Amino acid sequence: MTKYKLEYIWLDGYTPVPNLRGKTQIKDYAEFPTLDQLPLWGFDGSSTMQAEGHSSDCVLKPVAIYPDPARSNGVLVMCEVIMPDGVTPHASNKRATILDDEGAWFGFEQEYFFYKDGRPLGFPESGYPAPQGPYYTGVGYSNVGSVARQIVEEHLDLCLAAGISHEGINAEVAKGQWEFQIFGKGSKKAADQMWMARYLMQRLTEKYGIDIEYHCKPLGDTDWNGSGMHANFSTAYMREVGGKDYFEALMAAFDKNLMDHIAVYGPDNDKRLTGKHETAPWNRFSYGIADRGASIRVPHSFINNGYKGYLEDRRPNSQGDPYQIASQILKTIASVPTSAEVSAAA
Ligand code: ADP
Ligand code: MN
Ligand code: MN
Ligand code: MN
Repeated sequence: MTKYKLEYIWLDGYTPVPNLRGKTQIKDYAEFPTLDQLPLWGFDGSSTMQAEGHSSDCVLKPVAIYPDPARSNGVLVMCEVIMPDGVTPHASNKRATILDDEGAWFGFEQEYFFYKDGRPLGFPESGYPAPQGPYYTGVGYSNVGSVARQIVEEHLDLCLAAGISHEGINAEVAKGQWEFQIFGKGSKKAADQMWMARYLMQRLTEKYGIDIEYHCKPLGDTDWNGSGMHANFSTAYMREVGGKDYFEALMAAFDKNLMDHIAVYGPDNDKRLTGKHETAPWNRFSYGIADRGASIRVPHSFINNGYKGYLEDRRPNSQGDPYQIASQILKTIASVPTSAEVSAAA
């Protein structure tokens, strides 16, 4: 038997943006455990905005498991929060009720700022560094500093060793701002991995005295970029059948459901989606080929392949919940009949 360190990780009840929480228990297993070998566990919900003090037990239900490369015999356990009855999802547990479809693929581009001493990493104590321009995909100490690259590389290796589909890194437009991309098939799989990648980044930067600032516009109404979490998506039908008529019907549905999308695309998005800094205004839907100022960017490859492939919704922000973002995208897609459904109805 080996003693495994199980880190149970969950989302707390803070609004509008939940925090990641985690605690460790040690259990004996003959080999690396499977999901169904992991027990339910409890925690004090009155300390996480998930219960009142007089009846404070909440239950953690393991739903996804990854090796924890930062610990010997470590296991990262993504959990849903459920009620003491052991079955009913807690009100804060959005994952339990989202739409899922293994044929739907999601690629999230997580942007964020490194923060140290209350300001973006590399910002002087007062005032601002040289304006935006050289930082995006930049190289060299004056552009990216001395520690950020070390962190993003370590984070990449942690994610890959955990089996998380980390797909890439780039320095972003503002100083101290970076991006990583996470891919997954199915909304739960993609979003679980994104939450776990966020967790690994926050845990990693503890030792550097650095925080991750996920707010979508941390520098306010200035000429400094905000942070998004572009959601690239494709269903099996979009990849394999597609077509111009279906695409136009899809865009009409996205236009119709504008406010349902904005409601789950992250708080304070009106401060980011102003129409400046490569964004579209939050209250008007638009799409365009290779257009980084549109709500949805249609890649050239999509048009060249006969309106088949993936689309990029550029509106979700860096604090958005990938569970709810993916689910809303699937909901809107599901409202559009495919050609088989159209001919069946005729
Ligand atoms: P950009 O910065 O140009 O907008 P990125 O390279 O940062 O693009 O991100 C593109 C994302 O699109 C990646 O996360 C990738 O996994 C995702 N992606 C690529 N193909 C598909 C697809 N068929 N379905 C869903 N997502 C996809
Ligand atoms: Mn990107
Ligand atoms: Mn980006
Ligand atoms: Mn993008």
